Amino acid sequence: MRKIGLLGGMSWESTALYYRLLNEDVRDRLGGFHSARIVMASVDFADIEAMQVAGDWDAAGALLAEEARALEAAGAECVVLCTNTMHRVADAIEAAVGIPLIHLADVTADAVRGAGVATVALLGTRFTMEQPFYADRLRSHGLDVLVPEGDDLALVHDVIYDELVLGVVREESRAAYVDVVRRLVERGAGGVVLGCTEIELLIGPGDVEVPVFATTALHARAAVDFALS
Ligand code: GLU
Repeated sequence: MRKIGLLGGMSWESTALYYRLLNEDVRDRLGGFHSARIVMASVDFADIEAMQVAGDWDAAGALLAEEARALEAAGAECVVLCTNTMHRVADAIEAAVGIPLIHLADVTADAVRGAGVATVALLGTRFTMEQPFYADRLRSHGLDVLVPEGDDLALVHDVIYDELVLGVVREESRAAYVDVVRRLVERGAGGVVLGCTEIELLIGPGDVEVPVFATTALHARAAVDFALS
C-alpha cells in the first residue's frame, strides 16, 4: 500500500472527515485490520485565511509548497490537498515536489461526467466560485458550470467561514443551501458539486433533487485508488 500525504487543516473539520473516510475505505476494500498509510501536514488555518483575504496567493502557495515538501520527505507518495479553495495554488505545490498531486477538480469532473451530468452547479467559497481556477478546470473536462449569483453566492461563502469551518452545523443553513441549489437547478444545473470540503458536513444526497458530488468523499476515494494501485 502506498503512503498518502494529506495536506490539511483547511479547515481541520474536513481534514478529520478525510482521515475517517480514507481509513474506512481501506478497511472495506482490504478487510481485517487494514487501515490507510498516511502522513499529514496540518496547517494553522488562521494563517491561510488571512492570506486568502489579503489576496496573497503567492505567500499561500509558498507556505503550502513547503508543507508538501515536508510530506514528501516523510515518505508520502502523493499529495492530497484537503481543500478546494487552495487548489488556487496547486501549480506551486506541484512544482515543489516530485510526487503527484491528486487534483480535486479532476477527480470531481470525472465523477460528474461518469454520472452523465453535462451542466453542474458549483458551491464553494467565494474564491472557488468567482475565480477561474476551479470552474475552468471543470470546464476543461467538457462540463458547463453554473455558480450562485448575488445574495446566494454571499450566503454560501458566509456559511462556510462563519459556521462550517468552526464546526457549527445549523438547520437554517441547510435549508438555505437547499434553496440555493433549487434556484441553480431552475437555471439548468443537472447536478451540484459541493466544492468546499466542509459542505458535505451540512448537506448530502437526501437534501436535493439532483445528483450531489461531494468533493471530500470523491477525493478520499481517489486517494485510496492511488494507494492501492
Ligand atoms: N475547505 C474549504 C474548501 O474546500 C474552504 C476552506 C479553505 O479556504 O480552505 O474550499
